Parts: sequence; structure tokens; C-alpha cells
Amino acid sequence: MNKPAIPNSFRTGPDEQGMFGIFGGRFVAETLMPLILDLERHWNEVKDDGDFKAELTDLSTHYAGRPSKLYFAEGLTRHLREVSAAKGLGGGAKVYFKREDLNHTGSHKINNCLGQILLAKRMGKKRIIAETGAGQHGVASATVAARFGFPCVVYMGATDVARQSPNVFRMKLLGAEVRPVTAGHGTLKDAMNEALRDWVTNVEDTYYLIGTAAGPHPYPELVRDFQSVIGIEARAQILEQEGRLPDTIIAAVGGGSNAIGLFHPFLDDRSVKIIGIEAGGRGLDGIEHCASMNAGAPGVLHGNRTYLLQNADGQIMDGHSISAGLDYPGVGPEHSWLRDSGRVDYVPVLDDEALEAFQLTTRVEGIIPALESAHAIAHAVKIVPAMDKDQIVIVNLSGRGDKDVHTVANMLGMEI
Ligand SMILES: *Cc1c(COP(=O)(O)O)cnc(C)c1O
Repeated sequence: MNKPAIPNSFRTGPDEQGMFGIFGGRFVAETLMPLILDLERHWNEVKDDGDFKAELTDLSTHYAGRPSKLYFAEGLTRHLREVSAAKGLGGGAKVYFKREDLNHTGSHKINNCLGQILLAKRMGKKRIIAETGAGQHGVASATVAARFGFPCVVYMGATDVARQSPNVFRMKLLGAEVRPVTAGHGTLKDAMNEALRDWVTNVEDTYYLIGTAAGPHPYPELVRDFQSVIGIEARAQILEQEGRLPDTIIAAVGGGSNAIGLFHPFLDDRSVKIIGIEAGGRGLDGIEHCASMNAGAPGVLHGNRTYLLQNADGQIMDGHSISAGLDYPGVGPEHSWLRDSGRVDYVPVLDDEALEAFQLTTRVEGIIPALESAHAIAHAVKIVPAMDKDQIVIVNLSGRGDKDVHTVANMLGMEI
């Protein structure tokens, strides 16, 4: 593979065409093009607008509860120091959690939803549509739609509707309409296609609120910028608490929004090692994983070019992960570019390893992490014992794990 030349800054993308190197862009039907261009025009207007930023900051503070804490995970650090000592290594870095689990609705997703609904309001759009897989983004979208009094339609694969009934009920309580999608395998990819179709047919009044840093330009950029609050805060907080930058930062990658949000403000700090964790599922040998960057190939999905899980004929495959939030078969295009340029390492973590980390964190920290976040913690568990005691690792705790207790009970062969 040809490595792209190392740029002076990793933080300048995308270019005017929405490209991060060879990734990204807007591969959409001609009928969608005017909508995308209109969105881009408004995005460019608001992104440096003081009033827009002030309104977003106000909501983030008083509605979502920002800034989220940067927490020294003393129990986990102590545990990993014991592991290190037992191995005769005598090390064990300090582990910090960026506490996105403490946000309103329990994850980082609210950051993006608040930003985009304000953008929708600016554009004069009154109807919100969204896609959802496990239902987390659907709930976050329905939440902000309720807050702003906008009608909201959430497209959700029929398979997912059946297996995520509590989130379907939450969305209905919040006043959203959930439309099951039976096309394909009835999962996230199909829901996203259906949402794009709705958008073209309801041009005038509808805003499509995409849930991750993927889709056609400018979505990957705007979702990244709304989520970058995570990294901006974390960077300032670690400088304040430790007087220096971390050695390593880690986040789980589904579509990649919480990860790019943490990573982006650190990309030009070359001393900081950056690691994205993909869902390794039951292993990369078979098809039961969702590691698009470790086991996929570049292709086009949902309007952008990126690494995808696909078979030899280029058909998109459904991924598997114990954690529903990580089983998107693609990944945001900026991650594909960061992968190829070598700035970020992308590493798989298996279902079983995430399950272990979920239990460990619950036990030694009194924090039940989302299974997505448990993937990132699992990687910290692997690398921290071999690091020095004066080193620092920040793990993005993207969400809380209450939603996952049934899955975990199931995996452990227990009944609730
Ligand atoms: C949705 C979700 C993810 C994965 O989505 P990204 O866009 O990759 O961040 C990770 N963690 C939690 C808690 C989620 O709800």
C-alpha cells in the first residue's frame, strides 16, 4: 500500500470536495446534491458564528451537563499496577476516564444531536429524521426533537426494532415515530438508506440528523466538530490536572464519532499515541466481527469512500459485535485517512475481552461502562501494565452501560 505523504498538520481536512486524502467526498444521487450543498452553505455560515456557538454552549452546559469530568480511575490503575507487579514489570500507567457517560441521555451522542438540531433550526427546517441501529442515536435525536418541539421520524431496521424494544419505547415516549425498515437485513445500513430516501422526497422541511462521523460531506466534518468538545476539554483538563499531555489516548470506533471527537484536538501533538478500537467480535478470521479498517477494504457506502466490510463481489456485509453501537459496516472517512497516514493505530478487541473489561470496571471503579466503551478499556488493560508508572492514558468512556445489562447477563448465562 502507498502511504500518503505526512502532512504538516493532521487537522486541516477535509478539502473543499470533502476529501480526506482519497477518502470521504459526496457520492450521492443528483437529486440529493442540492440538499447537501444547502447544508454545507449553512454549516459554513454557522461554524464560526459567535451566536450559534453561544447557544450551543448554553445548551451543552445546562441541558447536557458539560463539561464532562476527566476522572482519575484510581481503582483500575491500582489493579493494573498489581498485574504489572505480578508480571515482574513494576510499572502501570495512570488511567483517566473522560466521562461522557455522565452526559444527559448517557453518552456522547447528545453533543452531536444538540449541534445538529441548532443547525436545523438555523436552516428553517422543522421536521427531523434520523437513522438508528441499537436505538441510542434514535433516542438522542428524539430527545432533542422533543426539547425543540420538532416532529421526529426515526428509521430503524426491523430486526433491530425487534431486539431493542426498550429504546423503541423510549423514542415513542419522547414523541418520535419509529419506522421499521424491512429492506436488506433490517439493520443500521438499511435504515440509513431509507433515511436518505426520505430526505430527497421531503426536501423543503426536513433535516437529516446523521448519528456518526460518516455520510456525505459535510456530515463527517460537522459531526467531528460537534464531538471535538470531548478532546478540547480532555486536553485542557489533563494539562490542568497533570501539567502535561497524556502519552496515549484510546477510544472505541463504531462509525467513529466519539473517537474522532477525542482524537482531533490531539492529532498534532506528535508525542501522544492515538489508538482506535474496532469490534473484533469473535475474531477476525471469520465474518463475525466489525473491524472495517483491519479486515475490510475501501469502497463507497452512504455517500462516502471509506474502509468497509465487503465480500469478494463488493457486497456490503453485516458486521457482528457484542456491542450494538459498534456494528456499523463502515467507518467515518477521516479515520480511514488517519489509518493510512499512520497517525492513528486501529486495533481490534474481541467480544470476550470487552465483556471482561466491563465486569472489571464495574467491580474496581463502581462504574458500569457501555459495552462500546468497554472495548477501549479492554485495550488499556492490555497495554497499561507494560507502561511506566509516570505515564498517562486517557480512555474515552463514551457511555454508561445500563442499556447493556441484559446482553451481559445473557453472555454470562445468567437471568435477570
Ligand atoms: C453509538 C455509540 C458508540 C459508537 O458510535 P461512534 O460514532 O463510533 O462513537 C460508542 N459508544 C457509545 C456509548 C455509543 O452509544
